[in-house]
Amino acid sequence: MKTGFVSIFGKPNAGKSTLLNALLGEKLAIVSPKVQTTRHRIKGILTEPGYQIIISDTPGIIEPRYKLHEKMMQAVRSSLEDADLAVLLTAANERLEETDEVFNSLKLRVPAIVVLNKIDLVSKQQQEAALAFFKSKDYCRDVLAISALQHQHVDTLLQKILEYLPEGEPFFEGDNISDLSTRFFVSELIREKIYYLYQEEIPYEATVLIRAFEEKTTLTKITADIIVQRESQKAIILGEGGKMIKKLGTDARTSIEAFLGRKVFLELFVKVRPKWRDNENFLKEYGYL
Ligand code: GDP
Ligand code: MG
Repeated sequence: MKTGFVSIFGKPNAGKSTLLNALLGEKLAIVSPKVQTTRHRIKGILTEPGYQIIISDTPGIIEPRYKLHEKMMQAVRSSLEDADLAVLLTAANERLEETDEVFNSLKLRVPAIVVLNKIDLVSKQQQEAALAFFKSKDYCRDVLAISALQHQHVDTLLQKILEYLPEGEPFFEGDNISDLSTRFFVSELIREKIYYLYQEEIPYEATVLIRAFEEKTTLTKITADIIVQRESQKAIILGEGGKMIKKLGTDARTSIEAFLGRKVFLELFVKVRPKWRDNENFLKEYGYL
């Protein structure tokens, strides 16, 4: 069994998210905009017979022109240390020298391959030139050309990635959904819907705690608490006659079902915990820190 961690690096707009989706396909695809914090790096787990790849997205790399940028790049670098492979992603129509500078500034300590994306936008000639350019660089073990958007050569990339991963046991059980990180993503999916449905301070002062996660034969029964800071917020979450929480429950259940690939029975409760965001014990209980 091949198993390991892959981090995708690249400038904003290189196509990192698109590539992540393309690699994950219809599999255990966990891509939520709300997971984009340094605390929660794991974005997608691709489990197949014979391998498991944990693919992370990273903050977009920007040219370190200012001190602030250097600090941001340090964060990117530190997120590299436990990866088995770095995928350096660049759009084929980007300026090569500039991209090279950015990749070089990473001072990579893990093996890296350069993946030229968006080849659908450039000529074969331009593509070959770019590949040759990166192939000669010290940080680059291998080069590959893809179109993440059009799913061109994504399988080739997958095979290439596997060459760099060590043998080992899977980190996550593919169908064991009582796994903590599955719970985490489920809570994020509920939280995401709160962002869409409620306004003003509500999303920022609310969090979600999964209370129970039971796999039944035909469905998964999930019980979750929505934690808010004030009674007035609880009333808003519930809505008139419970209208809003019903909508929240339906929306969240739909995306959790898509995520888990099975039927879900979702039960939501609202709890008031004054100033939970400033309370060490609550923060810990809710999975922060
Ligand atoms: P990220 O900022 O690196 O995560 O980039 P995104 O994945 O959000 O992609 C940025 C833009 O590039 C989006 O509009 C994508 O549709 C587009 N894009 C990504 N991959 C390709 C590709 O292979 N070909 C083309 N033409 N566009 C792409
Ligand atoms: Mg992105």
